Amino acid sequence: MQSGDPSEEHDSGPGRRSGDHERPGVSTHLPPEGSRASATSEKDVAREIRDAAVSLGFAKIGFAPVERFDDAAERLDTWLAAGHAGEMQYLASSTDRADPRHLLAEARTSIVAVLVYPKGRPVKDARGRLVGNIARYARGQDYHAVFKQKLRELGDECARIVGRPVVGRACVDTAPMLEREAAARAGIGFIAKSTMNIVPGIGTYTLIGELLIDVEIAPGERLEPKCGTCTACLDACPTGAFVDAYTLDARRCISYLTIELRGPIPVELRSKIGERIFGCDVCQDVCPFNASAADKPSATELSPRPSLESPDLVELLELSSSGYRRVVEGTALRRVSRARLARNAAVALGNSKDPRARPALERALSHASPLVRGHAAWALGELGGEECREALERAAASDESLEVRQEASCALERLSPVA
Ligand code: SF4
Ligand code: SF4
Repeated sequence: MQSGDPSEEHDSGPGRRSGDHERPGVSTHLPPEGSRASATSEKDVAREIRDAAVSLGFAKIGFAPVERFDDAAERLDTWLAAGHAGEMQYLASSTDRADPRHLLAEARTSIVAVLVYPKGRPVKDARGRLVGNIARYARGQDYHAVFKQKLRELGDECARIVGRPVVGRACVDTAPMLEREAAARAGIGFIAKSTMNIVPGIGTYTLIGELLIDVEIAPGERLEPKCGTCTACLDACPTGAFVDAYTLDARRCISYLTIELRGPIPVELRSKIGERIFGCDVCQDVCPFNASAADKPSATELSPRPSLESPDLVELLELSSSGYRRVVEGTALRRVSRARLARNAAVALGNSKDPRARPALERALSHASPLVRGHAAWALGELGGEECREALERAAASDESLEVRQEASCALERLSPVA
């Protein structure tokens, strides 16, 4: 998940001014006029900030030190050097992601905050449509804006509590791996074998963000891993994406394949993706720490939208430009283009093996995007049958794209293997 969210520019609000146009995202939070600090000792400040966070709907907060995370930086470098990040080259940017001070030079404390999204249930559509699966965190309103707004309100509360202007910066997905490290250092969660951050008593269906502030608060005690001998997530991963405990090869992870990857999905992984069209929850669903996860989100905006709980695969495959905008507007789905969403829907339809998918997949052989046409050809090969064969033969003979012709030929070979 990338930095550079355009919403960083809009920092003004009650009790707040966007004080620094040279530094997008930096806000100065003002105490109410004429007010005095409501807390004087550092301990009271910490307690009052915690209370304010709970009132704002945060499930948990902790205080992390503002320092360079040397160990985490080393692990990130090793992971990047191994090529496990795939196309996510933004993680290797020259900015020192391991040091929060590059985001706010005045920062003295990082408030690490947790929002919860609902555990939800697997959705089976009763009306006979072919439906896909969207990762639970993405079924409601885009959490970036919701989270940042809450962090800024927390910044206003900090100014009220300390009785002076507070310089702050709200960060959501600025450096995903290091946010988990910050959460561990704040003592609110530990980095698990699944590489997710587990918040004891809450689990992993969480979103983590940070508010950097120029107020000194004693940090929490680092939480060490508590997975014990469990390996449920490593064993359950459909694509075998874990190189080992604590190490994920993102190139095999369904979240990467369906969201980050711009080009074709490797053929050998397509059948393992199942009906998932945006992200994957498997390694979380099997985690014992999620056994009593919440059914209610921290904020109503994170409640699932019915259309994203049971997305219609044929509709997604055939979205027009305006239809695409309607579906993704205000949601995390806007991170994938129309063609990539259709690509993912084609793979899910192929994996359904349902003959009702055939007409839409045949129509998709005329899609403007060769990426979609190629994956539709693959999916027709998964469905099989004489009508699919005829459509594939036409595509193999006449599609203008070499890649699509090759996809169609490979699909035909799977239909009639050479003896
Ligand atoms: Fe595997 Fe899915 Fe977890 Fe990725 S999100 S590591 S594909 S189980
Ligand atoms: Fe740890 Fe088991 Fe949860 Fe994996 S499933 S993160 S090993 S507790």
